[in-house]
Amino acid sequence: MEAKPRPVVDHSRCEGKRECVAVCPFHVFEVRRIEDGDFARLSWAGRMKSRAHGRRTAYTPGLDQCRVCGLCVTACPERAIRLERRP
Ligand code: SF4
Repeated sequence: MEAKPRPVVDHSRCEGKRECVAVCPFHVFEVRRIEDGDFARLSWAGRMKSRAHGRRTAYTPGLDQCRVCGLCVTACPERAIRLERRP
């Protein structure tokens, strides 16, 4: 069976503006300090950008509640969220 699409946040684009938190009807997102491993995987420019935004970024602790409505994809001003099928 094909995997269900799910929201994936590009931490190199996300500026932690919380539009996804506001728009998701199922409380999938939270915005918090970027995890050290995710920060380390950013490019040099990405790390500079992350620092400029207080290292805040979106995570998806409520992923299981996602109904694939796409509102977060449309709402994100940085185009940092995609719906992807991943195993
Ligand atoms: S696709 Fe819809 S339900 Fe899923 S995380 Fe985005 S806003 Fe929430």
